[in-house]
Amino acid sequence: MEEQFRQKMYQQLMDMRSQILENILAESADFMAATSNDAVKDSVDLAANDVDIRLLETIGTQDVNRLKKVEAAIGRINNGRFGLCAKCSKKIDEERLRAIPYAPFCIHCQKGSELR
Ligand SMILES: [Zn+2]
Repeated sequence: MEEQFRQKMYQQLMDMRSQILENILAESADFMAATSNDAVKDSVDLAANDVDIRLLETIGTQDVNRLKKVEAAIGRINNGRFGLCAKCSKKIDEERLRAIPYAPFCIHCQKGSELR
């Protein structure tokens, strides 16, 4: 994979990540306000990028799943496996990555998992 493309995907994923985190924090503002848990309150004071993903799971918004996929894709960029299907290890089509930068599977494996 071209370094330039990889960089672009990385930037896109980081943008997505902060956007989702902003959504989650906005949605969970009431939860945060209502909680008496200091650990929760402390983490809200941190920058959005530092929010603990496990904490977000306890809040349980719909965005958390997407955030996990984005996080996983960022991890794959860092360990050099980005763009390779998590199931069959074949290259994921670049057009597909452009549309869904956090796609973990190639189109064939994705189709297969949707049938089940
Ligand atoms: Zn595959």
